[in-house]
Amino acid sequence: MGKMEKTLLLATSRGYCFGVKKALERVEKTLSEFHQNPIIVFNEIVHNRIVVDQLKARGVMFTADLDSIPENAAVIISAHGVGPHVYQRLKEKNCEIIDATCPLVQKVHDKVHYYSNLGYYILYIGKASHEEAIGVIAENPSNITLIESEKDLPHIPRNHDRYIVLNQTTLNMFEVESLYEQIRAALPSVEMPSRNDLCYTTTERQQAVNSIAKQCESVIVIGSANSSNSRKLCEVAQAQGAKAILVDTVDEIDDRWLDGVNRIGVTSGASAPEFLVEGVIDRLVKRGFSVTNVA
Ligand code: SF4
Repeated sequence: MGKMEKTLLLATSRGYCFGVKKALERVEKTLSEFHQNPIIVFNEIVHNRIVVDQLKARGVMFTADLDSIPENAAVIISAHGVGPHVYQRLKEKNCEIIDATCPLVQKVHDKVHYYSNLGYYILYIGKASHEEAIGVIAENPSNITLIESEKDLPHIPRNHDRYIVLNQTTLNMFEVESLYEQIRAALPSVEMPSRNDLCYTTTERQQAVNSIAKQCESVIVIGSANSSNSRKLCEVAQAQGAKAILVDTVDEIDDRWLDGVNRIGVTSGASAPEFLVEGVIDRLVKRGFSVTNVA
């Protein structure tokens, strides 16, 4: 009997999104322009351990503590954005602010003001600990309730006339849709925006991994554990019944994990550099997998 052909289904929709590319370009430009002052990134520039480590090795400092930032420093705001108090404090310290907030995250910040000014109370679907959610909520904390899951629905204050729902850009598209429905059921007067705030790269990558996972036994997602969009790629693959693992680099893949696997999917999060994906592909090709690209 012939040996079963081993196939690697590679998501063509993977890796750096435009917000991450733009943020990293801003860092490179800043590195070439500011030779004297310390260069500090507020929060991780993008949620990838390897990228952050490489920048640290080139002298870039990372902090989430405003108090630790010296006067006159060049401070890069990460792709996930920050609330207005951060800009305020940095201005007081006379810092040079280089804003690498993704325009798609900025759009949600702007919507908070737009809807608040129209008298809406905002229900924001997101994760409390994520920098993006922290920054958006900081725009108008007294006018927003965070919805992490259906458990938060009973906490929606009922004393407002108009409600609108917004969401974090990198959530699981299926979960967001389901939460929108649950909010509508709990609060029939709520107004829904014409579309949710998931960014298009998040949606495209989740759709791609969803179709790949249907055809595979296992899926490898290259990305860091603190990357929301990468974790969601794993979740979407698991929901299709595939085994899915999230790895920073090829070294985290255990050979035993590949034993008996004939169809494997590979994708990467929006902040994972392509050389890390190539490392994983090389390893799998050496194990006898042949690559098929999946749109
Ligand atoms: S994942 Fe989407 S919202 Fe986040 S940085 Fe990338 S393009 Fe922007």
